[in-house]
Amino acid sequence: MDQQLSFSHGATITNLECSKCGTTYPHTVPQNVCDACGKPLLARYDLEQLAGTWTRDALESRPASLWRYAELLPISDPTDIVTLGETMTSLIHTKRLGAKFGLTDVWVKDESRLPTGSFKARGLAMAVSKAKSLGLTALAIPSAGNAATALAAYAAAAGITTHIFMPQDTPAFNKQTCQLAGANVTLIDGLINDAGRIVTERKTQEGWFDVSTLKEPYRVEGKKTMGFELAEQFNWELPDVIIYPTGGGTGIVGMWKGFAELEAIGWIGKKRPRFISVQSTGCAPIVKAWEEGAIEATPWRDAHTVASGLRVPQAIGDFLILEAIRKSNGAAIAVTDEAIREAMALLPTTEGLLTCPEGAATVAALKQLVSNGMIGSSERVVLFNTGGYQS
Ligand SMILES: *Cc1c(COP(=O)(O)O)cnc(C)c1O
Repeated sequence: MDQQLSFSHGATITNLECSKCGTTYPHTVPQNVCDACGKPLLARYDLEQLAGTWTRDALESRPASLWRYAELLPISDPTDIVTLGETMTSLIHTKRLGAKFGLTDVWVKDESRLPTGSFKARGLAMAVSKAKSLGLTALAIPSAGNAATALAAYAAAAGITTHIFMPQDTPAFNKQTCQLAGANVTLIDGLINDAGRIVTERKTQEGWFDVSTLKEPYRVEGKKTMGFELAEQFNWELPDVIIYPTGGGTGIVGMWKGFAELEAIGWIGKKRPRFISVQSTGCAPIVKAWEEGAIEATPWRDAHTVASGLRVPQAIGDFLILEAIRKSNGAAIAVTDEAIREAMALLPTTEGLLTCPEGAATVAALKQLVSNGMIGSSERVVLFNTGGYQS
C-alpha cells in the first residue's frame, strides 16, 4: 500500500441514513437511495466515540491529503483505498482581486490541483474506494463532464469497468479523457438528467451500480473534505462567506454535513459561513426555488450555460442544498454567461490563477454581491475554483 497512507486507520462509520425520512441501512452492502422515499442516503459515524478520542493534534503527522480525515470517511479497510494523490488543495489569499472589489479578506480554494483537474476527484476517490470494498465490478454514471473524467480515472486504477453517459456537447477534454482511461462512453442527445434516466433504466439488467451524485452515498463524503480542509487551513475558525458554483449541489451538502460533524466532535464552534450558491441564468433551478422560498426546486427547462458543471436542470438533493443555504443565512444568485466570460480573466490577471468557467462564476457572483451590499468589506470570503482551465 502507498506509504503515505500508512497511518492507523480508525474509520467509525456506523450506517447509512435517509436524509428525508431517517430510515437506516447498513453501509456494508451496496445501496443507492432510500427504498422508502427515494431520497439521498447519508453516512453516519460514531461521533460520540470520536469526540472523546480523536484530537486535532492527531492530524499533524498525517500526509496533506483528504485521507488525513480517515476517522470521518466511509472506508474501513485502508487497503480498499483507491488514490491518485488527492492533495489538500491550496487556499490562497488574494491581494489584487480582493482590492479590486474593496475587500481585504478574499481567498480562493483552488481545487484545480486535484487529480483529473477538478474537485470531482474527491467524490469519485471515495465512491470508487467504497465500490471496491463492496466488491462492485461495473459502475455507471450520468455526467455533465468532470465527474465522468474522475470516475474513468479512479475506476481504471481500481480495475473496475465504467459506463459513462453524457451530453454530446460535453467539453472535448471530458470526452477524450474518459476514452483514454478506457471507459465505455455513450454520448446522448440531451442533458445530464436524460443521461441519468438511461442509467436508471438499464442498470439492473446490465448489472451496473449507479454512481450518480447523491444517488450514491459516498461522493458527498469525499466532497465534505473541502469543508474539513477549509476549517483546518483557517485554524478551525470558519470564514464568513463561501461562494460555491452549484450544479448537483454535492459540495454544499457535503460541507454543511462536514461542519456539523466537526462541531459534534468539538473541533469547531457554532459559527457557519453563509453559503452563497451560484448558478448561471441559463440554468438556475436552485436560485429560482430560493427566491420563491420553496423547499424543493422544479426542473429547469432548456438549460444552457458555458459552465458545463452548472448545467444540472434537476438535483436530487435540492432540498438539502436549499436547507443549507437557508440555515446558514446564505443566498442563491444567478450570473449571466456574459458575466462568467468576463470574469474568466479576473483571477488570471489579478492573481495569476487560471480558472474554469464555474470558478469564474464565483468571481462574477462576488462582484454582484459587493454591489448589492451583501458582503461587508472586512468579511472573510472564500471562492471555490472547482476545476482547472481547459481550452
Ligand atoms: C460538478 C462541478 C460543479 C458543481 O458541483 P456540485 O457540487 O455538484 O454542485 C462545479 N464546478 C465544476 C468544475 C464541476 O465539475
